[in-house]
Amino acid sequence: MKNSFLLVFLSLFLISCETTSKEEKINDFAIIIHGGAGTILKKNMTDEKEAAYKAKLEEAIKVGYTILKNGGTSTEAVLKTIQVMEESPLFNAGKGAVFTNAGTNELDASFMDGKTLNAGAVAGVKDVKSPIELAIKIMTDSEHVMLSGEGASTFAKEKGLEMVDPSYFYTENRFQSLQKIIEQEKTQLDHDDKKANFYDPNIKDSKYGTVGCVALDKNGNIAAGTSTGGMTNKRWGRIGDAPIIGSGTYANNNTCGVSSTGWGEYFIRSQVAYDISAQMEYQKKSLKEATKDVIQNKLTKLGGTGGVVALDKNGNMSFEFNTEGMYRASMDEKGELIIKIYKE
Ligand code: ASP
Repeated sequence: MKNSFLLVFLSLFLISCETTSKEEKINDFAIIIHGGAGTILKKNMTDEKEAAYKAKLEEAIKVGYTILKNGGTSTEAVLKTIQVMEESPLFNAGKGAVFTNAGTNELDASFMDGKTLNAGAVAGVKDVKSPIELAIKIMTDSEHVMLSGEGASTFAKEKGLEMVDPSYFYTENRFQSLQKIIEQEKTQLDHDDKKANFYDPNIKDSKYGTVGCVALDKNGNIAAGTSTGGMTNKRWGRIGDAPIIGSGTYANNNTCGVSSTGWGEYFIRSQVAYDISAQMEYQKKSLKEATKDVIQNKLTKLGGTGGVVALDKNGNMSFEFNTEGMYRASMDEKGELIIKIYKE
């Protein structure tokens, strides 16, 4: 009898230890970002290019960090941080977006609010300067979650968002990447290689370049957002994971927030962002365990490449990717800044 009491007491004690260690708040507020994953190798990078990427990641994350530090919302932090990267030609989002097969830029973005589980997303817009701003507007000012193409542009105009001529998104680099792929495709067709990937024969060597941000504010609210130009040479109105809630973006105050980058088709099929949250909710996994399983185990087995940045309700943060590199940065409540590019 005495023994069984002791056993019950011991089990309760162990359970409570487990809960406390997982429940422990390590950051009151925090922010984490990515600028795309892919075959990013030190040997292919110049010092100047590396410095430019790091400087832009630092500039972007500090914008969000300052908002959070001053008591601003995670929504505001995600919006303003992503806008810095959308305006930079370095990333495949906003200015600097990749080209479609038709030589246009078609942009996708999504946003989710972890407190209300409300979300907004946009696919295939060509003339809205900040797709992430439009995604948030769709969430706050419409009864819909996702709008696309011309309809989404009309909505943006009605709401007074900044519109631009499509040429605003043009960058010479991205245009040349399209020409290279079209040229390679022709050669492959000449050799009748039916196995060639339909939009990018070199997809395994791709640098994806999407941008994303997850933030936790002082009120415990998590927000996540992702913005992209998609994949070079995409056609037929192809839409990737970035605007799909549950694949490219997910946020829930009870678990975590996630933003993805990688080969979108695999991220959609794997429901990457939601799966991480679900593993935490149903299997009581830590953020690290959940991100690791989804990227290194499940996504990898399927043949998908890419990564995520994620942050949980206690301010734990995780970078997880199965590619050679991922442009990434994080800042905790003390202002400690981590910026990295390559695999370690
Ligand atoms: N995930 C994006 C897409 O498939 C690409 C990227 O991450 O850069 O559209």
